[in-house]
Amino acid sequence: MKRLHVITWGCQMNVYDSARMADVLAPLGYAPASAPDGADMVILNTCHIRDKAAEKVFSELGRLRRLKEATGGRMILAVAGCVAQAEGAEILARAPYVDIVLGPQTYHRLPEMVARAAQGGPAVIDTEFPEEDKFDFLPDATAPQGITAFLTIQEGCDKFCSFCVVPYTRGAEQSRPAAAVIAEARRLVAQGAREITLLGQNVNAWHGEAPDRGTWGLGRLLYELAELPGLLRLRYTTSHPRDMDDELIAAHRDLPMLMPFLHLPVQSGSDRVLAAMNRRHTAADYLRLVQRLRSARPDIALSSDFIVGHPGETDADFEATLALVRDVRFAQAFSFKYSPRPGTPAAGATDQIAAEEKDRRLAELQALLREQQARFNANCVGSILPVLFTGPGRHPGQVAGRSPFLQPVHVTGPEHLIGQELSVHIAAAFPNSLSGTLTEEIVCA
Ligand code: SAM
Ligand code: SF4
Repeated sequence: MKRLHVITWGCQMNVYDSARMADVLAPLGYAPASAPDGADMVILNTCHIRDKAAEKVFSELGRLRRLKEATGGRMILAVAGCVAQAEGAEILARAPYVDIVLGPQTYHRLPEMVARAAQGGPAVIDTEFPEEDKFDFLPDATAPQGITAFLTIQEGCDKFCSFCVVPYTRGAEQSRPAAAVIAEARRLVAQGAREITLLGQNVNAWHGEAPDRGTWGLGRLLYELAELPGLLRLRYTTSHPRDMDDELIAAHRDLPMLMPFLHLPVQSGSDRVLAAMNRRHTAADYLRLVQRLRSARPDIALSSDFIVGHPGETDADFEATLALVRDVRFAQAFSFKYSPRPGTPAAGATDQIAAEEKDRRLAELQALLREQQARFNANCVGSILPVLFTGPGRHPGQVAGRSPFLQPVHVTGPEHLIGQELSVHIAAAFPNSLSGTLTEEIVCA
């Protein structure tokens, strides 16, 4: 048995890709190792979305170089993901001890790359966007992911927001056929998954080939997946406001197992900045969409992404973002300082915002978002929420799971509750989690 250690940075799509890379290498005898020391192969699965991505990779590579030397150079070192895609040649120039550089679209070819690397020739680099679809070449057999599982249904992006590298690193938008998605979901459930999160850079732009010809949208796919016996919960992320169509909103109304929590990035509340970002929606469009979602599913909780300090953002633009946040009342959110990404239109803009100003705006926005999250969590106290238990809690004798709104919930209870969805009386709220006690009522065993 050989030992494989994978280090993953970035989004849930990278987490999914790392698991699939391990699946591809399993038939070659590679079994997961929890640490890189003494491993036969280490893969760094990288993210390029914001600042210092490449520096982080090079500093990790420095550490791994010493571990590779300790194996007499036998350890195969691979750099995968979006940094590899964007900066593959530079990686090999600066870290010539790296054996393999591969992009997010070529990891089905890993066995071939590993065979070439093992022969000790020059480094292997494969960062093309291949003709073939990697999903057609990945093995069906997958290592179980656990009670909650990720399933990538869509990749890439054609939207070209001014600030974003994804269209360049992940390539054009692609949707997997519905039959392939349903088959993978079935396998995940058979392996014990009770909740599936469908993934995509623009997951709601999914338009997959239907089993009976034609295409389906995400709404239709969700109705189909909701029929899978044994599956308790469905989620999807990340969505673009422009792709929330009527059928998808109706799915939120009709499917109780589609969790009432939606990550719907808006980025800014200023129409001027939204136009400069090439988001192709206004703040009013976003607010109308929130209204429609809340009419369809009154308890839906919203999360978002924000960027402060995009080139040209004025104080008034930033105030418009704060106003939108006050209007919507988010349950949770991610916010970032604009980080120029090489090759993107905004990186070349001359009206960049000073670092101190970005810091100030981010601090103000985050204070407001934290306040909203605390209020959302506090409002859960006293209610009974279904919690899907996924693992042991922080303290002995505790189990932990997730509420429908994705909040971590801790209760005192035995480990055999893991995998069940049970009602919990919420007794206390913390900044990022809840705690409570099990009620008598069993929602689902
Ligand atoms: N496709 C999603 C959408 O359009 O909303 C977002 C995907 S992106 C991988 C995740 C988040 O990273 C974005 O929503 C954005 O807030 C943030 N992001 C992307 N590029 C950025 C940049 N150059 N600087 C700061 N944040 C960035
Ligand atoms: Fe990036 Fe999302 Fe915009 Fe696509 S839609 S370019 S992934 S931010």
